[in-house]
Amino acid sequence: MSANKTTKKTAIAAPAEPSPSSSYESRYSPAETEPRWQKRWAEQPDLYGAEPATSGKPKYYVLEMLPYPSGQLHMGHVRNYAIGDALARYMWMTGHNVLHPMGWDAFGLPAENAALKNNTPPRQWTLQNIAAMKRQMDRLGLSYDWRNEVTTCLPEYYRWNQWFFIRMFERGLAYRKKSKVNWCPECCTVLANEQVINGYCWRHEDTLVEQRDLEQWFLRITNYAQELLDDLSKLDGWPEKVRTMQRNWIGRSEGAEVTFQIEDAATAAEEEQPSRQAGTTLLPARDDIKESGKTVTVFTTRIDTIFGATSIQLAPEHPLVKDFAAANPALAGEVSALIDQQKKAREGGDIGAIEKHGVFTGHYAINPFNGERLPIWVANYILLDYGTGAIMSVPAHDERDFDFAKKYGLELRIVILPRRTADPANSGEEEAMLPYTAEDSLLMNSGDFNTLGNQEAQHRMTAFAEEHGFGKATVSYRLKDWGISRQRYWGTPIPMLYCEKDGIVPVPDDQLPVLLPENVEITMEGGSPLGRLPQFVNATCPKCGGPARRETDTMDTFVDSSWYFYRYTSARDNKEPFDTSTVAYWFPIDQYIGGVEHAILHLIYSRFWTKVMRDLGLVKNDEPVARLFTQGMVIKNGAKMSKSKGNVVSPDDMIARYGADATRAYSLFAAPPDRDLDWQEDGVAGVSRFLGRVYRLVTKHADRVRLYLGPGGYTSTDPLSPLGLALLRKLHQTIHKITVDFDGRWHFNTCIAAIMELVNALTAAVPAIAAGEVPDAIFAGILRDLVLPLTLLRCQFPVLAAMVHLGASRADFGAANDSQHLPLRNAVSGHNRDLR
Ligand SMILES: [Zn+2]
Ligand SMILES: [Zn+2]
Repeated sequence: MSANKTTKKTAIAAPAEPSPSSSYESRYSPAETEPRWQKRWAEQPDLYGAEPATSGKPKYYVLEMLPYPSGQLHMGHVRNYAIGDALARYMWMTGHNVLHPMGWDAFGLPAENAALKNNTPPRQWTLQNIAAMKRQMDRLGLSYDWRNEVTTCLPEYYRWNQWFFIRMFERGLAYRKKSKVNWCPECCTVLANEQVINGYCWRHEDTLVEQRDLEQWFLRITNYAQELLDDLSKLDGWPEKVRTMQRNWIGRSEGAEVTFQIEDAATAAEEEQPSRQAGTTLLPARDDIKESGKTVTVFTTRIDTIFGATSIQLAPEHPLVKDFAAANPALAGEVSALIDQQKKAREGGDIGAIEKHGVFTGHYAINPFNGERLPIWVANYILLDYGTGAIMSVPAHDERDFDFAKKYGLELRIVILPRRTADPANSGEEEAMLPYTAEDSLLMNSGDFNTLGNQEAQHRMTAFAEEHGFGKATVSYRLKDWGISRQRYWGTPIPMLYCEKDGIVPVPDDQLPVLLPENVEITMEGGSPLGRLPQFVNATCPKCGGPARRETDTMDTFVDSSWYFYRYTSARDNKEPFDTSTVAYWFPIDQYIGGVEHAILHLIYSRFWTKVMRDLGLVKNDEPVARLFTQGMVIKNGAKMSKSKGNVVSPDDMIARYGADATRAYSLFAAPPDRDLDWQEDGVAGVSRFLGRVYRLVTKHADRVRLYLGPGGYTSTDPLSPLGLALLRKLHQTIHKITVDFDGRWHFNTCIAAIMELVNALTAAVPAIAAGEVPDAIFAGILRDLVLPLTLLRCQFPVLAAMVHLGASRADFGAANDSQHLPLRNAVSGHNRDLR
């Protein structure tokens, strides 16, 4: 059937504006078009603004992790932001009220290093970098609501860090203690456990972290350890690998604490007593053993093996060891060697691989289950900060204990065996199985507990210990309290005062913020730079009015990022950290997008912070983030882009050569978003050529189809030609594929591929269309619905340019075209199912 030239034109829109020049550009030029649109958008600060809670639309909070303002975006950022941007656009186009903000994680050490190098104050350096990166983001055409920009180094933000800190102090969640801390000699500051990666600084991959003793401020994250663990099960919108990493980091282990009496040293010296026979039934401490009154408590996850204990092992810094060593100079010397070995191994990052050494103290402890005397050793592989700093050594059933016992000739005693060989008559083959550590086993040589399964034995033996007052069930966590003191300048001052009379006194709320002074000399030695400023240090005690000394440490910058996303909902509020009801509307974050490297730092601290804020009555949500997406890395020539590898591709170069649209679309197109993306410049060039083809296709036919684009879209009652029907079907198949890929799976790459196919089909049909085989009205509708999904993928510049040529920018797409809230209309949400 040939097209009917007299087709009724039922949906003609009169262009609301005079149509622009009819002399079309033959070639799409991003260098001309993109800045023109950017200028127009810059004049509208509300362009990407969220609407109030009363908008009646479903809310959608999409967030990309905020960058550190290094001064230069890299391709990893571009990829992260391109994903968030496409998602924000999709949500706008499908009728959501979208919050899509951006900010700056602006405190931190690089600003101080730059200050040393270039003699630029950290504040100035940081603010310059922010301005430069914001220009880059604008040039990329990213759709942020800048009205709620957050810059963490400004007093309007960090005063609330201080306010939160004081609230935590009041509740015992912030406290000060002297402890062993991780010290990076390169950063000249303390690091949290989470910032030590295999013994090295998280910022300085080649710098071994040292151990130092320092007074520090801690946040009691361990109070929330169980809840942080339990609530992981609610986060089914998070990648399983991140949940697993957090679970392991929290490291819950169930077990028991058992207290052993220590034998009086005088008695022990009198006679060398033979060890008791294995399998002795339960006995109180033997009459011939005198207890010293001292005790040692061990933590064990395997109380079922306690009859197999043949020694007690203490951490070199255990208080008992100090006691023993005080009376024994030879022991003192050996212990200090063990301390050194442990320190070196910790600094080397793999304490688990330490070459095990130990020394017998000459003292004995008494196993409360059977009255046996167990020699007390000091061993370099026992850590004071794990469990109780003391273990019972069961060499037959523990790898480490086995190695140690072999080395020092300590007794091995089998007390559990696999179910099939549990009959003691089978003994003989067991030696070869040692150390035997399986959970599913039966007890032997264990007095009244013989023949119990090990699970039941754990319950019964723990209950027995509780009943007799020498033990109890306990839970321990690998997670430690969060050390937040930093001996650096460029961070939030910790708002505390030290008064001789009143001790530690918080700065009153009405004196916040404690301002970070300007013009501070930055040096990398001698403690916090703030400590050298008398005008900062000397203060007045708010309690007694006497002199007080101000805390000179600053906060870990992970404090800043622990709650910044709440501040986005009312960033200019100067009465409170945020408006509680606005937060209640927007939270939890519907989709958070960032790198997996934050799995146990930022993402565990911010979960903790949310729970604290909930307990303060500020938020109602238990968790900050409903869905988390961790995008893959951008690599080139097989390696992650980095300056040291010399394989960095600058976004500015790509934009200059191919335009922002092509750069961004390529980063969506080249790989599924969760996979690593191997950057190929040919690929960017290819996307750029494709966008040029779309542009030419639309503009070439602008004159013919302009009249058919109206608010009602195309309608016709006339029968379609086979070609017209085929093209329409292809269009709707494409829209359907995009909807499915976009909504459920984020397969942006296959979306773009589908649009490319559609453009190929249209291009091939052009001669037939020109010959009148497809009515202009239909062709116009297809072109419009082709460009809509392209704007969804943020290829907005050529599309907008093309639409200006179509004269459709106001009439068809209305103000929505400029406001970026394009309704998808029959595209995407309501596409014609019959034509799929
Ligand atoms: Zn460092
Ligand atoms: Zn005072």
